[in-house]
Amino acid sequence: MSCIFCAIVAGKAPAAVVWEDEETLAFMDINPVSQGHVLVVPKEHYRNLYDIDPESAAAVMRTTVRVARAVREALRPDGMNLFQSSERAAFQSVFHFHVHIIPRWFGDELRLPPQVQRTDFSVLQEIAARIRERL
Ligand code: 5GP
Ligand code: ZN
Repeated sequence: MSCIFCAIVAGKAPAAVVWEDEETLAFMDINPVSQGHVLVVPKEHYRNLYDIDPESAAAVMRTTVRVARAVREALRPDGMNLFQSSERAAFQSVFHFHVHIIPRWFGDELRLPPQVQRTDFSVLQEIAARIRERL
């Protein structure tokens, strides 16, 4: 089986599972960026945001909310990030849709890129219009 997350879903590769239901599976990330880093996947294979069925994405988010609250109770982090990567430019390395649940603590080592781009409101309006046209 070429997809590692499909292999985990099928029980053919090991994983520290925290939640399973009909549509989703949640398990510990093998290389955690913080203690309690969990991945939530749909059982069905989708590459990423571009092809996932919205109903499956909704099921993943339901599980994500549920598991995140359990992580909070279990580990008492100061905060939490959700992270989803689609395609290599966005750091996707496993091409089976997944959401990262990343507990955060004040003073932890995790850094997100802090740069923001100063942008004219007219540019925001123009980009918003291009997106709206496709909705
Ligand atoms: P991405 O960069 O695609 O958003 O995240 C992929 C994640 O999957 C990484 O955080 C990586 O540590 C995790 N990962 C890769 N292979 C395995 C594996 O075999 N088992 C588990 N539990 N996590 C994995
Ligand atoms: Zn897969």
